[in-house]
Amino acid sequence: MHRRRFLTSMGLGLTGVAALGALSACDNNEDGDGAAGESTPSAPSGSSSPGRSGVIVVGAGISGLAAARYLAGKGKDVLLLEARNRIGGRIWTSEQWAGVPVDLGASWIHGTDKNPITDLANKAGARMVTTDSESATDYLANGHQADDAAEQAIQRWRKATAQALATNQDKNEDQKDTSVRSVVERALNWPTLSNDDKSLVSFALNDYEHEYAGSVNDMSALYFDSDKKINGKDVLFPGGYHQITDLLAKGLTVRTEHVVQQIDWDSGGVTVTTDKGAFQGDHVVVTLPLGVLQSGTVKFGPGLPADKQAAIGKLGMGVLNKCYLRFPKVFWADTDWLMCVPNLDKYGQWEQWINGNRAVGQPVLLGFNAADFGRTIEGWSDAQIVAGAMGTLKTIYGGNIPQPTDFQITRWASDPYARGSYSFNKVGSTPAMRDQLAARIGDRVHFAGEATQRDSFATVHGAYLSGIRAAEEIAG
Ligand SMILES: Cc1cc2nc3c(=O)[nH]c(=O)nc-3n(C[C@H](O)[C@H](O)[C@H](O)COP(=O)(O)OP(=O)(O)OC[C@H]3O[C@@H](n4cnc5c(N)ncnc54)[C@H](O)[C@@H]3O)c2cc1C
Repeated sequence: MHRRRFLTSMGLGLTGVAALGALSACDNNEDGDGAAGESTPSAPSGSSSPGRSGVIVVGAGISGLAAARYLAGKGKDVLLLEARNRIGGRIWTSEQWAGVPVDLGASWIHGTDKNPITDLANKAGARMVTTDSESATDYLANGHQADDAAEQAIQRWRKATAQALATNQDKNEDQKDTSVRSVVERALNWPTLSNDDKSLVSFALNDYEHEYAGSVNDMSALYFDSDKKINGKDVLFPGGYHQITDLLAKGLTVRTEHVVQQIDWDSGGVTVTTDKGAFQGDHVVVTLPLGVLQSGTVKFGPGLPADKQAAIGKLGMGVLNKCYLRFPKVFWADTDWLMCVPNLDKYGQWEQWINGNRAVGQPVLLGFNAADFGRTIEGWSDAQIVAGAMGTLKTIYGGNIPQPTDFQITRWASDPYARGSYSFNKVGSTPAMRDQLAARIGDRVHFAGEATQRDSFATVHGAYLSGIRAAEEIAG
């Protein structure tokens, strides 16, 4: 999730906020800020025996931290088990460049109005910088900046693409689903288009891949945008997103480098088995990413209900990867975004860049690659990825631009504790499947994580709210 130009420019999104009722769920303590003071969960809940936790939370990403923080605020004894050597999960601020923190996972709060993450950011005193999807310079495949005529053509095809999808959603009475690409190609009579126009339609399609991380070949034309947008600005954190997860984690008991392998339950309680031993509790909150659930690497002793298994199998786990390039000086346009229309045979390659000079005052460019191409380059060496990025930049700014002095590259699909970047609605899935993913099993086994949040999947605030929901199931 990183920009919404295709929605804002079409006037098709950013409207009502159906989730606002749910957002107040973050008011879980007296301050109403989602962070239950500085309290360490001191007193174990009555039902817990020594060496046994009231609640075991699997995963210390934002959803697990939100659940644990909420429950600790209610006096519950909570233990977080985390496979990595750090908290945050898909919120991951790298400190590799001294004084220049960079976010390798989530960067933005999408829509600051009545967003629980905005409240947490204020509480943390985190500086926020607005980026504007309309502040963009568009470049054509030959490297030239789009002139007025080209700009109009870009906008025309963007609008036609959005319109084709909206019409399909409005008129599709039998609810027969197919992919975003096939709907658009059919509506725009693809075979009759010139190669230039096909490039511009593809450029428009790639926006959806960057937003939802799935391939447009797999993304459900009926449900791809079934999430509810939140009004307000898109802001990022020059000091890093970790400020939010650090605030939530204060005083909580987190056992890092504990890889959960199996989760068992019966009427007496839950047992969570890790590579470092087993832990007993009264309840478990499972926040494993959809990609991890799909991989089957964590076993569920008594098995999962059939509808939950179907949801795991049918929802999609997408990919959005980042490549930060650090340069000795700025040589690029002074807009928030640099957008590059590639040739047709280079679909999805290095199309979207954010200007770190505007966002964080550094000579840094951040290139994004989503979906199929984002997945493909995970198999490339760092040098190949940097060379690919530089190829696009040289086409635009000339062969004399400086080489980057350093880079940072993500490979989220290959990450065994994420197995992708965030979930999307794949052909064959329905929004109701997210409710099935979220559904508790009996009174002991609870589920959270971005993929379980029907109205705000794929976001930090959605993941946060899912953690609060699961915690409320336990705390009542
Ligand atoms: C590149 C990228 C860019 C993004 N950009 C944005 C953005 O700008 N704005 C936005 O709102 N959202 C964005 N997102 C999405 C957002 O980061 C996620 O929706 C959110 O952080 C997910 O939180 P979570 O708690 O559901 O999952 P996670 O953060 O993945 O937490 C799950 C935790 O479980 C742990 N775990 C996994 N397996 C095991 C195991 N076997 N045992 C123990 N622990 C395990 C993981 O290590 C992880 O810490 C982005 C994501 C990515 C990857």
